[in-house]
Amino acid sequence: MSIHIIKADKIITGKDLTLMTRGAIQIEDGKITRIYNHASQIPSGEHITVTDLGDKTLIPGMIDCHNHLALDTRIEHHLVKMNDCECEQTIRALKTMNDDLHAGVTTARCLGDRFYIDVTCKKAQKEGRISGPKLVVSGIGMRASHGHGYVGMPFDGPEEFRRQARENILHGVDFLKVFMTKVINATSFIYHFMSPEELRAVVQEARSVGITTACHCSGGQGLDDCIDAGIDCLEHVYYISERQVEKVKNADRWVVYTPSYALNDDLLFKFSPKDKDGSLKEKEIICKCLEGAISGGLKFGIGTDGIHQGLAQEAIYISSLGASNQDVLAGITVNAAKLCHVDNVTGSITEGMAADLVALDGNPLEDLSALKRVEAVYQDGKKIN
Ligand SMILES: [Zn+2]
Repeated sequence: MSIHIIKADKIITGKDLTLMTRGAIQIEDGKITRIYNHASQIPSGEHITVTDLGDKTLIPGMIDCHNHLALDTRIEHHLVKMNDCECEQTIRALKTMNDDLHAGVTTARCLGDRFYIDVTCKKAQKEGRISGPKLVVSGIGMRASHGHGYVGMPFDGPEEFRRQARENILHGVDFLKVFMTKVINATSFIYHFMSPEELRAVVQEARSVGITTACHCSGGQGLDDCIDAGIDCLEHVYYISERQVEKVKNADRWVVYTPSYALNDDLLFKFSPKDKDGSLKEKEIICKCLEGAISGGLKFGIGTDGIHQGLAQEAIYISSLGASNQDVLAGITVNAAKLCHVDNVTGSITEGMAADLVALDGNPLEDLSALKRVEAVYQDGKKIN
């Protein structure tokens, strides 16, 4: 069997993201089989290829914890385009997957796409027929008929939600996704659109086959209902209160931060009140809430919510809200893998893991902007660019 060894000045290794200097990793059959503390230890031989990345930093392949394959905020009227036909949306998905992979995202968690596009693309990627991140999928996102969720489909009553949950499971999804609130609320009372009975029906169906649940939930009563119903992961949490931070922590649930919708003014002004002052007020409230969640120590992943090639920027925003570089990096690698239940196969540079790797110009533990300077991407040991 051929052996590939990659040397780099800095390699961020293990589940605790430890910086190793002048080390090397050995790759066989797509997996990391050995880590050398010092490049002088590496063997040589005819069947061994050595790549020297020089002064670059090697990190685990990044994981986008909140993706939608066919939702692409880079194009105009991107929300309206969620009503495009299946072919059009699939073509878009193929492009976003390829783009994200080249930006260093080797795994992505999909929070709902129409027509089971994520389920189909997951299979095709696994079989090597298309290029893109490995996918963790939820199939059809489920929302109430009067609720928010451009990428979701409408259902009403526990039995309708249950039926769709079962159909998603039949298609082989990895988890179930529901929508509880709007994105940016802009009112003092945060609307919530699903009843506790509907939530419980979905959680029950997920648990009966050993999978998890995620809910698009900004805050308010809906967030309490999600925790009480047993939802495993809360997406966005823009308006999470101090009390709710404690509640999420005590219940040992995950959160996924998607900060651009509040911190990137272009997106914020698109989604919150039309007047600028109103939007800036929302931004202030959201930043305070997210800072509270971060300082409260909630376990988190970071996602783009359809801002393809934008994961590095989301990571930088989370650091600006108070998270350490180490925690931010964990939120797009090792902790993200735990959240996605793929930490036994990817998410860290550890022996036995898939060789999903990104070489950066710069060390993200010192400077997170290095995440934007992707020099090379490897997925299952194969060089992508
Ligand atoms: Zn989303």
